[in-house]
Amino acid sequence: DNEQGTLTYDHSRKKYPPIRNISSTEKKRILVTGGAGFVGSHLVDRLMLMGHEVIVLDNFFTGNKRNIEHWLGHPHFELVRHDVVDPFMIEVDQIYHLACPASPPHYQYNPIKTVKTSVMGTINMLGLAKRVKARFLLTSTSEVYGDPQEHPQKETYWGYVNPIGPRACYDEGKRVAETLTYAYAKQDRVDVRVARIFNTFGPRMNENDGRVVSNFIIQALKGEDLTVYGEGDQTRSFQYVHDLVDGLIALMNQPCQDPMNLGNPDEYTILEFAEMIRDSVNRGVRIIKLPSTTDDPQRRRPDIGRAQHYLGWSPKFSVGQGIGETVEYFRKVVRDNDL
Ligand code: NAD
Ligand code: UDP
Repeated sequence: DNEQGTLTYDHSRKKYPPIRNISSTEKKRILVTGGAGFVGSHLVDRLMLMGHEVIVLDNFFTGNKRNIEHWLGHPHFELVRHDVVDPFMIEVDQIYHLACPASPPHYQYNPIKTVKTSVMGTINMLGLAKRVKARFLLTSTSEVYGDPQEHPQKETYWGYVNPIGPRACYDEGKRVAETLTYAYAKQDRVDVRVARIFNTFGPRMNENDGRVVSNFIIQALKGEDLTVYGEGDQTRSFQYVHDLVDGLIALMNQPCQDPMNLGNPDEYTILEFAEMIRDSVNRGVRIIKLPSTTDDPQRRRPDIGRAQHYLGWSPKFSVGQGIGETVEYFRKVVRDNDL
């Protein structure tokens, strides 16, 4: 097209991040559903920089064009506004299937839609993978372990999930998504990977996301009380998003099809975590306790032995390093949006 002079990109208007030049045999066409979201946009950045062609499908429910705007117009990049609940056809080599709201306020806003997204969205993407013989990776979650009775959680643990509670639309949705993934693998020989992602944070989390890391950081930056739900003795283990992206790409490109925990085993009580954010962002704010939420998992920490063994992967960033960069990101968001 360029040779005919019909389709040209005006690069003088805009400078793209420098991508690697790779051979056409190495270069893959990769579909990222949910690619305008928090994790998806970081994954897209890395795949683009590696020199691949990337197609993003997103309905912008919780994602934002801003997260990927630096690639708009790039010849290796395509953005399609599409809801994964509806079928979609495209020729690709790999599918990273992320599309699904991930924070409790967002996934509980319309629980029926959340289940539809997990079930019908995953069927559609597995159907596509089957048809075009693409490798398929599902981003599942530590929530499949529910309020775990085993600690830390290994992939062999079956979980403890309330099927009718407020978190069920997400937890059970992802459990069915895993079931579908292995059913397509067995019945139709789709080449699948499943990542069970533990709490992840970093720049580009939606400022209205409602998850604990963005809540505490934004509250501290605005000089507001940090809101701990319950006594704050429940635990979480937090991983920085760049570690997760390393893990997802490593998982996709190795042979093991078993579910794989991706998380940082560094475990905090929520109260400890609130104190850490207060001490590093704004010592002037108070920590207050609000009522606890229904079915809030009490302890969560990944056993990452499997990922270490099969992927040679473990987190490289400490929580403190990641928090520093995330605070700088939200400082700008709070300033620019007058929050
Ligand atoms: P996010 O809300 O920032 O991103 C989700 C993206 O999916 C958004 O861009 C949203 O607009 C899009 N989306 C939602 N429903 C859609 C639909 N029906 N059709 C098309 N697009 C749709 O969340 P995130 O933290 O980036 O999570 C990405 C994936 O990782 C999700 O599947 C989530 O379940 C999984 N995950 C994330 C975490 C975490 O801590 N961030 C932990 C476990 C699992
Ligand atoms: N939490 C909190 N205050 C907030 C947001 C969350 O105390 O403003 C707690 C929440 O009750 C849970 C933990 O922090 O115990 C992690 O919550 P988040 O919504 O980030 O993720 P989850 O792991 O529950 O999906």
